[in-house]
Amino acid sequence: MSGLPVRPELVGEVPYGAPQLDVPYCLNVNENPYPPSDKVAAEIGAAAAAAAKSMNRYPERDAVELRADLAAYLGHGLTADQVWAANGSNEVMLHVLMAFGGPGRTVLSFAPTYSMYPEYARDSHTGWTTFPRRDDFTIDPVTAVQAVTEQRPDVILIASPNNPSGTAVDLDTIRAIVDAAPGVVVVDEAYYEFVRPGTPSALELLPDYPRLAVTRTMSKAFAFAGGRLGYLAASREFVDALRVVRLPYHLSAVTQAVARVALANADELLAAVDKLRANRDALAAWLADQGLQAADSDANFVLFGRFADRQAVWQALLDKGVLIRVVGPEGWLRVSAGTDEEMAAFKAALTSVLGTEK
Ligand code: PMP
Repeated sequence: MSGLPVRPELVGEVPYGAPQLDVPYCLNVNENPYPPSDKVAAEIGAAAAAAAKSMNRYPERDAVELRADLAAYLGHGLTADQVWAANGSNEVMLHVLMAFGGPGRTVLSFAPTYSMYPEYARDSHTGWTTFPRRDDFTIDPVTAVQAVTEQRPDVILIASPNNPSGTAVDLDTIRAIVDAAPGVVVVDEAYYEFVRPGTPSALELLPDYPRLAVTRTMSKAFAFAGGRLGYLAASREFVDALRVVRLPYHLSAVTQAVARVALANADELLAAVDKLRANRDALAAWLADQGLQAADSDANFVLFGRFADRQAVWQALLDKGVLIRVVGPEGWLRVSAGTDEEMAAFKAALTSVLGTEK
């Protein structure tokens, strides 16, 4: 970028993204490892082919049918006008900051958390600030409310379950933060489908709080990362504010059509969630058995450590064909829950790297 008059805050910045490498075991970006069945793949193909016949026309600008399907999937009495959709929850979140952040405003989140949040802030000219989680990655409601009251952020982002730690935030804490917040609060439930049974969703709080929003994605549990579809539920007024800042026709006709097919096949696409949850719990228990620390996780990954040289451990695993993620506080690594075969490969590789082969 040298010599080009880019915005000063972009000088020296590199594009976000985990390495995309062609290795046997990809456990680095928390995907669902199970591809769609031939039947669902064929339906997706047919929907794309049907959309192709009107490709000369712009797509339906407000994606009303898709939003109605998403509302039906979420339940909780939600309607299409209370749901927003975009190309991944990344884009949804950018819309939130474009509408509710901006110059002179700030967004607060609870660190360590999803590493894209500061990038949404930078790209929307919103100030970025964090408040620390406890050592076990939970949020202390008392000090969090104090921080919100003192700092008065315009936007608060709470990832629950959190990435990279997997920590779910209880509804009492969320309620306390929303009660103290002068602006909007977004609970990022990208991994909600993986929570332990009985853990309520922040969707339950929506009727009480018009300034609260909950985001979800089809990239994780839904096994639809390649489809790029994220969504948000909130009050109609909240959604209307997002409609103002979106680019016209932001969701392609193909995206809308294939996402609807995926939603119609929700049962099948979500069928592996129980299995992945069980593999996550087994993985965390195994890591603890190895004498490692494993963060308590309600998502489809486990943060574990701590290593004096985590980069070296990451590289040694990669040399054995297992790609995980260097993310989170110094000393920690994150691994996604995968198939039985992937879990066995990860365990064998880590055992050998750490020299604990029995
Ligand atoms: N939120 C969190 C906490 C995430 O971990 C991710 C993906 N890694 C996203 C949002 C964005 O996902 P997508 O854009 O694929 O919906």
